[in-house]
Amino acid sequence: MIIDGKKIAAELREELKKKIEELKSSYNSIPGLTVILVGEDAPSKIYVKNKEKFAKEVGMNSEVIRYPENVEEKVLLNKIIELNNDKKVSGILVQLPLPKHIDKRKVIETILPGKDVDGFHPMNVGNLSSGYDSSIPCTPLGCYLLLKKVEKNLSGKHAVMIGRSNLNGKPMTQLLLKENCTVTIAHSKTKDLKTECSRADIIIAAVGRPKLVKGDWIKKGAIVIDVGINKTDTGLVGDVDFDEVSKVAKAVTPVPGGVGPMTIACLLSNTVECFKKVNSK
Ligand code: NAP
Repeated sequence: MIIDGKKIAAELREELKKKIEELKSSYNSIPGLTVILVGEDAPSKIYVKNKEKFAKEVGMNSEVIRYPENVEEKVLLNKIIELNNDKKVSGILVQLPLPKHIDKRKVIETILPGKDVDGFHPMNVGNLSSGYDSSIPCTPLGCYLLLKKVEKNLSGKHAVMIGRSNLNGKPMTQLLLKENCTVTIAHSKTKDLKTECSRADIIIAAVGRPKLVKGDWIKKGAIVIDVGINKTDTGLVGDVDFDEVSKVAKAVTPVPGGVGPMTIACLLSNTVECFKKVNSK
């Protein structure tokens, strides 16, 4: 089975569209997402354009604030404080990476945790790992939703998470633990990745190495979620050797068209959740 992330993301956006219409009639206001983009990084510009497009498509307010590469850190921090206090703004996202002269940690910690739609604020990170309500980083949340589409009950499954980044690996591990999976976290110092993977019922690969995970690493019937996006001479490929793995796995996500579309849909979902929390108080 090929997990169609594009289709599942479109369904999620359709649900969000309906939810936003309901919220509009209940509260006479709608969720708003503000994205801050610093500089001219080409992939970031594409991501931001797509975020804006889909936010508008589901019917939320969407604003992009652009700064030049050399913007002073304090200008950015002051803008975030202004947005924190703006009732029309439900979610704030600062597109990463940031230029070197700007302290990423300071920027993330300035965003109000209740508006942190990326789920990167230490308060949200702590809440997620403590099992409390929190914003969940969009890509792991997307992987989680795809997994649940294939298998409702993940309890007792052995999951191998390849990669331990704050963006993907660590939050994904928390989501798997919450579902009562037994989780192995692999990284660049892991001794025998093939053997670790061969024991897994679920493999999530968030590495950034083209086609690292091979068909003979996979237990028959395993579910494989590929987060990787790697540019190669033959086009975009994931961290999983799709042609090989799809012959052995029960289900696998393609690249492109798997996790990628879910990331933006989950960003919109997080924005709606932030709006609901503020308005239901
Ligand atoms: P990252 O911060 O570079 O982390 C990569 C992780 O992989 C690290 O934990 C690293 O281990 C581990 N690693 C590197 N080489 C390895 C190897 N040979 N064997 C096992 N583990 C290895 O990357 P990231 O930000 O998590 O992103 C990972 C991939 O996902 C990238 O391709 C990125 O483009 C993609 N991505 C996709 C989406 C999406 O929407 N689909 C969103 C975000 C990222 P150490 O910790 O030991 O260094």
